This record gives sequence, C-alpha cells and structure tokens, in this order.
Amino acid sequence: MSNPQKVEVKKQHCENHQKCMEMIQAVLDGSASPDEIEHFKSHIDECLPCIEGYELEKSIKEGLKNKIERKCCPQKTVDLLKVKIGVSLFILGFVVVEIKIIQLIFQS
Ligand SMILES: [Zn+2]
Repeated sequence: MSNPQKVEVKKQHCENHQKCMEMIQAVLDGSASPDEIEHFKSHIDECLPCIEGYELEKSIKEGLKNKIERKCCPQKTVDLLKVKIGVSLFILGFVVVEIKIIQLIFQS
C-alpha cells in the first residue's frame, strides 16, 4: 500500500525566533501591516517553532477574550465564577500548606 505523504519542509529551529514572535504578536494584535502579514504567512508555513508559538499565543489571546466576555454575562454566571475562583484559591491554599509541611519535614 502506498501512502502518499505531502512533503513538508519545516524548520525545527528558528534562527530568529525572537523576531518571529514579535511578528506573531503584531499579527495577533492587528497592528501588523499587510506586508508584514504576508511575510508572516509565507514564513509560518516553514517554521515549526513559530507555528507552535503562534498557536499558543492565539489560544492565550482567545482565552483572555473569553474571560473578558464572561464578565458581561448575567449575575448567575459571575457568581458561579466567583465560587469557582474561591474553590481554586482554597485548593491553592491547601497546596501551599502542603508544600510548607513537606519543607518542614525535609528541613528537620
Ligand atoms: Zn520563525
């Protein structure tokens, strides 16, 4: 059985990742010029670490956007969110206490 695979040449390492990330930020912020967006599109296809960086930045931005949008939701959702945050803080407090206990055990 032949398995025709699309030949994709992607760089595993980006020699100017810092610059790429700045470009990604600009594109996601919407502050990039059409030229920059064009350059970004042609570059992102061949640069694996930058694709991953782009996907990550995009998901973070979308997550933040969802959070902001949630603020406009009815009071019930806000209350639910508060409860959730409270529970998270409670668990977090538990973890901190646990770490302190572990530290105490190791120090003694
Ligand atoms: Zn790159």
